[in-house]
Amino acid sequence: MNGITIALSKGRIFEETLPLLAAAGIVPSENPESSRKLIIGTNREDVRVVIVRASDVPTYVQYGAADLGIAGKDVLLEHGGAGLYQPLDLKIAKCRMSVAVPAGFDYAAAVQRGARLRVATKYINTAREHFAAKGVHVDLIKLYGSMELAPLAGLAEAIVDLVSSGGTLKANNLVEVEDIMPISSRLVVNQASLKTKRELIQPVIDAIAGAVK
Ligand code: ATP
Ligand code: MG
Repeated sequence: MNGITIALSKGRIFEETLPLLAAAGIVPSENPESSRKLIIGTNREDVRVVIVRASDVPTYVQYGAADLGIAGKDVLLEHGGAGLYQPLDLKIAKCRMSVAVPAGFDYAAAVQRGARLRVATKYINTAREHFAAKGVHVDLIKLYGSMELAPLAGLAEAIVDLVSSGGTLKANNLVEVEDIMPISSRLVVNQASLKTKRELIQPVIDAIAGAVK
């Protein structure tokens, strides 16, 4: 394709992305929340948006099916970042990645006595690194959603998940016991596209950089 393709996901990232794209003079012609279209045009003939799952954004950009994308640091860490240039922290969709356990569970004591813990998470790679660095023995169980349910249903003793207000944890009688890292969304760019389409891509990066608070 001659123009540029931007990979975005629906939901919270999309909402917060619109003002950043607008700063670059890019306005999607449809709202993906209400439209069923997966390829959306913009006010610019040379810019289109593809709507993908949040965790698929790095893959589309890595292979050049999209030139640019916006993805959470959580997703980028799991993907590994191969083939991606990550020029900007957009400071949107901010939250943190944390370890949480049922309110009555003494996590510190379990770690102290070297217990082997079952931990359910969507973030296997990040969780593995975190517990390895701390010397905590874990069996990681991969889930695709609703991590909060796992300790309540007896699937795991702990979870690694994203937390913002803590409301969901509280509603399920879970408490945060470790803050692993702060999370926000990043602009990602295909490394080859940056070279071959620099005259189109660089101004978009610069305009978005200017709009990031
Ligand atoms: P899918 O629904 O396609 O499985 P998802 O559930 O990861 O993907 P979202 O819930 O929209 O999709 O999350 C997209 C991104 O938003 C995450 O990768 C993360 O970076 C960020 N995010 C997730 N939860 C929060 C939160 N509570 N507060 C702020 N940002 C968050
Ligand atoms: Mg979701």
